Amino acid sequence: MVMNLTRNISIVIPVLNEEDSIQPLYTQIVSNLESFNKEIIFVNDGSTDKTKSIIEKIISQDSSVSLINFNKNYGKAAALSEAFKIVRGDVVVTIDGDLQDDPSEIRNLIDKIDEGWDLVSGWKKVRKDSFSKVLASKFFNFITRLKTGIKIHDFNCGLKAYKSDVVKTIKVYGHLHRFLPVLAHNEGYKVSEIPVKHHSRKYGESKYGKSRFFHGFYDFLTVVFLNKYLNRPMHFFGKFGILFSLSGIIINTYLVVQWINFQFISYGQFTLMRPLFFLGILLIVIGVQFFSIGLIGEMIANKSSNKSPINMTVISNKKKSN
Ligand code: UDP
Ligand code: MG
Repeated sequence: MVMNLTRNISIVIPVLNEEDSIQPLYTQIVSNLESFNKEIIFVNDGSTDKTKSIIEKIISQDSSVSLINFNKNYGKAAALSEAFKIVRGDVVVTIDGDLQDDPSEIRNLIDKIDEGWDLVSGWKKVRKDSFSKVLASKFFNFITRLKTGIKIHDFNCGLKAYKSDVVKTIKVYGHLHRFLPVLAHNEGYKVSEIPVKHHSRKYGESKYGKSRFFHGFYDFLTVVFLNKYLNRPMHFFGKFGILFSLSGIIINTYLVVQWINFQFISYGQFTLMRPLFFLGILLIVIGVQFFSIGLIGEMIANKSSNKSPINMTVISNKKKSN
């Protein structure tokens, strides 16, 4: 495409102990993107093998390559986040550093961006990973699709292209790299996908073990919560506050009414020392706590509402006055 020739592309590659993959990956990227104006940014996420020195050697021969070096492992989300702060391209492409993603797909992603999408995610349609990983990922993708309404198959593909604006707006931390399309969608960006080739891991090993399932679940809750309630925490905590304190009040009112009746009719000893009484008190206390958390949340949301950037552009036809 003619448009692509004038484009500035930033390629971001997070790497943790990928010493054998880096040189072949670099060679493939360069040969696939010869016609592009590009910068390649490796992020070394605390590797303990020769990853850093191999990248430094590449940098000594190619000025379009740079390295963000972490002294310890901060995770893929932090690696992407730091790279997103310094990228200069109009289109930003991320790709895993383990040769599982195919650099020949980068052009196709950029072409799709040119159709007007803000984020284009790769879809590992034929996935070359273990059965358990594929299954966990299918489940995770299904739930995320259902809950967010974003119609893509593969949220967590390392290969993605973004309009620069997107990466400068979204906040990626924790393990939220798994939800980049959701973060972008939440900011009002248009998200799409294309099927991409996927390869089995040739060198090194996967950095995510069995814990990926639980981490994914926690982060999913975070994303859903942030999406819906970030600016109105009381609406979330208040619901539980009402539910708990109201149940407690109903239980204790019932006990008080019973107690008064017993007083009048006075048959037998009536005591408030009943398990139900404690449950009533407990529910009221928990309910009040939920309200308090909601209130603190509101205060934080209120304070930070001036600081959190709104995804907007100002359009006007005013002439610049010099
Ligand atoms: N990675 C990273 N920091 C981490 C974990 C992974 O930079 O804490 C990099 C890793 O080197 C690779 C990419 O993120 O380039 C994807 O990781 P991996 O291949 O282990 O994930 P999988 O393909 O198993 O989902
Ligand atoms: Mg991989």
